Amino acid sequence: MEKILEQLIIYQTLDREALVRLMADPSPALGAHLADAARKVCEEHYGTAVFTRGLIEFTNCCRNDCLYCGIRRSNRKLHRYRLDKEQILACTDQGYALGFRTFVLQGGEDPWFTVDRLEAVVAAVHARFPDCAITLSVGERPREDYERFYAAGADRFLLRHETADDAHYRTLHPREMDPEHRKACLYALQAIGYQVGTGFMVGSPGQTVEHLVSDLLFIQALQPAMIGIGPFIPHRDTPFRDQPPGTLKQTLKCISVLRLMNPKALIPATTALGTIDPTGREQGILAGANVVMPNLSPVAVRGDYSLYDNKICTGEEAAECRDCLAARMKKIGRTLAVDRGDAIGYGPKAGESRHRF
Ligand code: SAH
Repeated sequence: MEKILEQLIIYQTLDREALVRLMADPSPALGAHLADAARKVCEEHYGTAVFTRGLIEFTNCCRNDCLYCGIRRSNRKLHRYRLDKEQILACTDQGYALGFRTFVLQGGEDPWFTVDRLEAVVAAVHARFPDCAITLSVGERPREDYERFYAAGADRFLLRHETADDAHYRTLHPREMDPEHRKACLYALQAIGYQVGTGFMVGSPGQTVEHLVSDLLFIQALQPAMIGIGPFIPHRDTPFRDQPPGTLKQTLKCISVLRLMNPKALIPATTALGTIDPTGREQGILAGANVVMPNLSPVAVRGDYSLYDNKICTGEEAAECRDCLAARMKKIGRTLAVDRGDAIGYGPKAGESRHRF
């Protein structure tokens, strides 16, 4: 195993067989070694800064029916909401004053947000805060929609591939969802010029070590600017209510291996990681992550954006959320950056248009 670890650090990759051996090895000492190496690589590129993204969960209405997700359309118990443009702008105003320079607009696949409506939201945020990055996380849409959002000022797009194994994908999603289509969306987004983020859930029902390794290799081939992963956590009103959650240990290990394979990527310590363990996000940062995403959504709707059970930070105001994370980061020797936080090699150069350089 020593040799495999050494090879991973030097070559930033391993063949499938070695990755399977690495990911299947439960040794805590191995996890600790990986975390140390990953943290070092992250610090070499990004120092001790942790980037923040203000997350605005602007709609929990969704036409999809992903089996793991609490806002799936079949969940009739959920109170549905959507924020209008003015409410979204109010979130960004508050966020800007708190030091956020990236806004992530995330939601279910809500047909009420037609391309015209969502484009108008993006344009309004961009006009108000031209120095901020706008990230969309709104699922699969036609390429023209992605193009229009980009032209209106969106810079980044998060679309987790969820699992790179097609057969596994089909067990997590209804029949009408197609893994090839989701991947095609990722390639289209990259071709348009977005900084693309992808990712997966750790420990999703039916996930094997082979699947995880396929995820690592898919991400390596895609070369995304951002990689978002977190543990699967069951939601009481979904078909996966009785499935066991992903573990802290395996999620941290995935973060570390992803950092070693993608040294310059932006990797968040996600809310799901903070939900399965009270210090999950801190441990994520110390295992190679470098982004946190405090919640900017109005407190009144926080509880309704329930992807999984017991989600943290549902009762706190935006300012409390940021302050809490700043304090948590300080404790582990990190500072929250007031910066767009582009991945190295991406983002606008002074005086140039916002394109990859
Ligand atoms: N509708 C958008 C945003 C989805 S929500 C889209 O399709 O991309 C963001 C992420 O939350 C999903 O990509 C999924 O990986 C994660 N998620 C959903 N349900 C979850 C659960 N039960 N446990 C952990 N993560 C979950």
